[in-house]
Amino acid sequence: MKLIVKDNYELASKEAYEIIKDLLVSNPKAVLGLATGSTPIGLYKNLIKGVENKEISFKDVQTVNLDEYVNLPVTHPESYYSFMHTNLFNYVDIKEENVHIPCGNGNLKENCDNYNKVLESLTQDMQLLGIGANGHIGFNEPGTSFDSLTHIVDLKEKTRQDNARFFDQDINKVPTQAITMGIKNIMDAKLVIIIASGKNKAEAVKALVNGPVTEDCPASILQNHPNTIVIVDKDAASLL
Ligand code: PGA
Repeated sequence: MKLIVKDNYELASKEAYEIIKDLLVSNPKAVLGLATGSTPIGLYKNLIKGVENKEISFKDVQTVNLDEYVNLPVTHPESYYSFMHTNLFNYVDIKEENVHIPCGNGNLKENCDNYNKVLESLTQDMQLLGIGANGHIGFNEPGTSFDSLTHIVDLKEKTRQDNARFFDQDINKVPTQAITMGIKNIMDAKLVIIIASGKNKAEAVKALVNGPVTEDCPASILQNHPNTIVIVDKDAASLL
């Protein structure tokens, strides 16, 4: 894996943007695997600016998102469907039919199978990731099999606590399950970009970069990926 350390979050976001810009310029029909959470917001702002400046276009881009909450209406402001539209899709020239987000409502088993079929036909040219403080990627919590495909997960207490900030600080409002791309689906991407910012991610980044490859830290499998770029700010890199 390639490690890039930047002075701050803004510069880390810009670095990720430059890599994705180059990818879209060389392959305007790229399949982009996208992520939610606080981390990618800076990158998404850069992507929106890039479309406004005509540096890039999403006209022929397809996107596949990592995950979605279970039993949260898609119209709920904290659904990942809403997040992606509010933070990116509403401001770029993407076609709605080219947007793919796992469905967390209805027949969940069928939704997992359908999403695996989508991913089989749309291999990610790039998969973007954040990292959880416990080393999760997507909603693949510690202990998830490295062979996993799209599946339903029971969210760990720590993850629900971390996400309570989006639900009026009330953990009881945070869904208890999610549907997520599996680790194998992530590893199938041709390029993985993982971004981390802040001191609260330093332990996870240390395990990602220097720790043993173990299912106890899902992100550590990226050490075995042929083309992963880790972009971190100084705080997230402080234990390296
Ligand atoms: P964050 O989440 O970007 O909101 O810190 C990252 C993650 O949990 O994957």
